Amino acid sequence: MKDTFKHQGLRQKLVKTVKSKGITDERVLNAIGSIPRHLFMDSGFLDHAYKDTAFPIAADQTISQPYTVAFQTELLDIKPGDKILEIGTGSGYQTAVLCELGARVYSIERQNELFKKTSKFLPKLGYRPKKLIFGDGYLGLEEEAPFDGIIVTAGAPHVPKPLLSQLKTGGRLVIPVGRDIQIMTLFIRKGPKAFEQHEYGEFRFVPLLEDKN
Ligand code: SAH
Repeated sequence: MKDTFKHQGLRQKLVKTVKSKGITDERVLNAIGSIPRHLFMDSGFLDHAYKDTAFPIAADQTISQPYTVAFQTELLDIKPGDKILEIGTGSGYQTAVLCELGARVYSIERQNELFKKTSKFLPKLGYRPKKLIFGDGYLGLEEEAPFDGIIVTAGAPHVPKPLLSQLKTGGRLVIPVGRDIQIMTLFIRKGPKAFEQHEYGEFRFVPLLEDKN
């Protein structure tokens, strides 16, 4: 578990790339600049860690592209202390970004292997989400609701109703919606049954799966 000047230099280049693609939120850029992304991947993939691309991790899943992580985080518009639910913990990289921004993070992962690995790994780097959960993100996390923000990091064929109902008024749900290609979608809760919806173009994610097996 090492972070060297070389890694730091590569990270600053990555920050520039992400910025050149349109990310402006300085706090998000700082998070990308400080999190050692190479440690979230198997060591053999070191050379890829600071390219702006998605990459395979365990259990046939991927660590999201840094630009995508930054884009989704910017849409969430987090304030320190916000209660945030993440669906799809995966490598924990997005979780770490949320922690860096001062959020109180709850994150759900349906692959037990990844859940276990990431639960051990994040505290080693000093990231302490409130709770990591092994379970089905389609259900959200009723016992901790409502949330200031919910972020889904897998492609959702439809918008799960519990995620909308677990938002505070003023809360934001950022979710890529679609099967083969997803449209990044932001819902802002305006009232008990009122939601504003905005769409932000095409992305590609691994699918949000409906069953646990
Ligand atoms: N945020 C992760 C992205 C991982 S890819 C990162 O930065 O590395 C998406 C993740 O969603 C995968 O780990 C996958 O196992 C998980 N996932 C898929 N369907 C899910 C579901 N129904 N509930 C919770 N997690 C799910």
